[in-house]
Amino acid sequence: RAKRDGRNAYRFFTSEMQAQSARALLLENALRRALERGQLSLHYQPQFSLDADGESRVVGAEALLRWHHPELGWVSPAEFIPIAESSGLILPIGEWVLVEALSQLRRWDDAGLPELSMAVNLSAVQFRHDDLPQLVERVLGELGMPAERLELELTEGAAMDNPAVAITVMNELHARGVRLSIDDFGTGYSSLSYLKKFRVSKLKIDQSFVRDLTDDAEDRAIVDAVIRMAGALGLQTLAEGVETEGQLAFLRRQGCLAVQGYLFSRPLPAEAFVEFVRAGALATV
Ligand code: C2E
Ligand code: MG
Ligand code: MG
Ligand code: MG
Repeated sequence: RAKRDGRNAYRFFTSEMQAQSARALLLENALRRALERGQLSLHYQPQFSLDADGESRVVGAEALLRWHHPELGWVSPAEFIPIAESSGLILPIGEWVLVEALSQLRRWDDAGLPELSMAVNLSAVQFRHDDLPQLVERVLGELGMPAERLELELTEGAAMDNPAVAITVMNELHARGVRLSIDDFGTGYSSLSYLKKFRVSKLKIDQSFVRDLTDDAEDRAIVDAVIRMAGALGLQTLAEGVETEGQLAFLRRQGCLAVQGYLFSRPLPAEAFVEFVRAGALATV
């Protein structure tokens, strides 16, 4: 019996795996044409600074990639980004994201929004690519956008993959005035000794630590430790995935000065983002 169950389980698993790789192949082929067919877009999630007097203010946006396929519908970045990375498509797509996000920032400036920063996610593949600092410099130059307005988000994995290369690339970006932050901080294998060698200005505390903040004493200890360590190293912290007043209250108390999350706003299409900022949404929180 056990053997039979085992075999059935194995068969089931195999066909599931086959279905998965068939979907991956389908997505890869569709993704190859997504850019030229105008299926990719960016949504923007507001990022807030927390002031001492308990106010919050939009200070920037994180650009988040969206893909709508006519037959497949919306495909999640969690599903298509890994495919874009393994196929190399992330290079042209990532360049498009950078250009589109900074062009949007230019349009917001022209429309009279306050001076915001734009955070753009970078894949490890882009980070390892020789041209990155030159590409960033060229795009900023073409759009006449000061480098200080751009913040590049990098995961620990991308930085730790090859720390020596990471340090060189970070120095080159830093020399051009671009800021770097570590995304999903705490979920990768962090070598703390590298944190002081990496030219980063911000740690984004991963939402997995924020989620249960009000019930889980260990998560509170971790978040508290990250905020203190960052402070001691002269780094800023931003907490991701803030969904409740309770989480926000804890983060404020511990001295976290920046947040983003559904409590404030979901990622928004560009026009809705403008309305959100204009409405002075700080009044709600
Ligand atoms: P990330 O950079 O850590 O982005 C945060 C993710 O959390 C986003 O998911 C965002 O929509 C979601 N989020 C924001 N606030 C909340 C909240 O309060 N609660 C919950 N549950 N979730 C929240 P999204 O847009 O699906 O993106 C997933 C990941 O895909 C991103 O994680 C990033 O790693 C990657 N990604 C997205 N856009 C790009 C891109 O342009 N380039 C690259 N290389 N990666 C991207
Ligand atoms: Mg990010
Ligand atoms: Mg993150
Ligand atoms: Mg993430």
